[in-house]
Amino acid sequence: MTDITAENSGAGRNPVAPGAGRTVASAVPQSLVARLARGITAAEGAATEWTVAPLTGEPLAELPQSTVADVDTAYRLARGAQQAWAARPVRARAAVLLRFHDLLLKRQDEVLDLIQTETGKARLHAFEEVLATAMAARHYGRAAAGYLKDRRRGGAVPVLTHTVEGRRPKGVVGQISPWNYPLELSVSDALPAFVAGNAVVNKPDTQTALTALWARELLVEAGLPAELWQIVVGDGPVIGPAVVERADYVSFTGSTRTGREVAQRAAARLVGASLELGGKNAMLVLADADLEKAAEGAVRACFSSAGQLCISIERLFVHGSVADAFLERFAARTRALRLGGGLAYGADMGSLVSQRQLDTVTRHVEEAVKAGATVLAGGQARPDIGPLFFEPTILDGVTDQMAVCAEETFGPVVSIYRFDTEDEAVATANATPYGLNSSVWTRDLRRGRAVAARLRTGTVNVNEAYAAAYGSVASPMGGMGDSGLGRRHGAEGILRYTEAQTIASQRVMPLAPAFGLDDEKFAALFTRSLRALKALGFK
Ligand code: NAD
Repeated sequence: MTDITAENSGAGRNPVAPGAGRTVASAVPQSLVARLARGITAAEGAATEWTVAPLTGEPLAELPQSTVADVDTAYRLARGAQQAWAARPVRARAAVLLRFHDLLLKRQDEVLDLIQTETGKARLHAFEEVLATAMAARHYGRAAAGYLKDRRRGGAVPVLTHTVEGRRPKGVVGQISPWNYPLELSVSDALPAFVAGNAVVNKPDTQTALTALWARELLVEAGLPAELWQIVVGDGPVIGPAVVERADYVSFTGSTRTGREVAQRAAARLVGASLELGGKNAMLVLADADLEKAAEGAVRACFSSAGQLCISIERLFVHGSVADAFLERFAARTRALRLGGGLAYGADMGSLVSQRQLDTVTRHVEEAVKAGATVLAGGQARPDIGPLFFEPTILDGVTDQMAVCAEETFGPVVSIYRFDTEDEAVATANATPYGLNSSVWTRDLRRGRAVAARLRTGTVNVNEAYAAAYGSVASPMGGMGDSGLGRRHGAEGILRYTEAQTIASQRVMPLAPAFGLDDEKFAALFTRSLRALKALGFK
């Protein structure tokens, strides 16, 4: 391992947050694990796999592993339940989401323990998942009937054709989710699928399956028929393709590499897919930004969930005239972040989830430092707190040759770049195949929105890190370019789970020669009608 010397180690180590006195074993007892594991669709006597609690490295849960045959069973059960569910009125389906909203807020401590234990994140960041999931439940609980209602459309000839556009459920949605936001990314994408009349076969990441299983129990308590949400657990490359190959629609969240494979499988079967993938997100601090607020926002932008957040910022562009003043504030705040693994509020940042994540973060930082980057804060692993802790890290002097410049780190590491003009900042921020999220800081909101519109990302936050856009659940969220296809949230987030169907009924006369009109007269009549319809302003 490269020795990061005191000179470039960012001066001072992050303080440690006090522990909460609760252990992983007491927060997630084996009796709870056994109860939740019964929600996995897997045959009796299935092989099992242990997960490990990232905070401490202790064994956490022994989970049955579903096979391809179990995926078949899951689809059979889901299909068996879907039609009766779809036949219920939308408002009855939506009521389940609204009850789930209330239950989730009431019982949030249970799931906060699970999320922290499975992912290692700080409780505040686990709470963000509760918040986002409750907002999605409220939104689709209240707005689904409007999104899904039949809409009258104009026919070929007014009055003669009565046309209605309707929405039908796809059937069974195959949903594959990652480990980083296990509540939000398993549940929030499933809620609009359910309310639109679908069933869901979900494959969460094995590491975070308990959180998804807990959410399923809660949704069943809120009134969802139990068979409608099947959860299969197992190795991604083994059962992931089986989930895709049986789905009527695929909702995938994960890496760009896996997303491409999923898209190809879905394309071969001509089923639709939405893909929420990786990013290399940029934040722009313009010359007129409020530097205190921007520094505080940058901390949230870069280090929430230890940077294991698809929309977190890994490239920070700051105007040269304010760079020193901004960096002084940003680095001081970053160095003061309290790291900790207690199962209670109090830590500002938790652990990474796995050795694989720690290895990538360490490699990106070490290689950059070796090639001449300077560490303004952090830069080191913190095994004194837990096996997978790494300090929130700010790198200056990063160049194109360093992996950290272009590759997604997916950890608590941000690189600083200075710019002179807005055009230059926008062009460099856009010079990435990704296009997920970005953030612009300025005192002039109009200017901020104008810069935002030039950034090639699915969401842009002005004077906020990521929560303003993500929390706008009535508005679409997703990626351009290598960051994905399709959107969650808003109308797109629910209509993707439906097929549009046009039902047009013809009255009085057909759209063809009739009532003794010969072909020529019919053509002449229709030519006059078309001219009249345009003159009258018909669309
Ligand atoms: P990953 O692609 O390795 O795994 C994601 C899921 O896909 C897991 O459940 C995994 O088991 C499964 N999987 C693996 N191989 C598969 C295959 N061949 N076929 C089908 N499924 C398969 O991603 P990860 O490392 O777990 O997650 C982190 C990535 O997810 C990051 O790149 C991050 O940016 C991205 N992400 C994106 C969003 C978003 O909304 N855009 C949100 C969260 C995470």
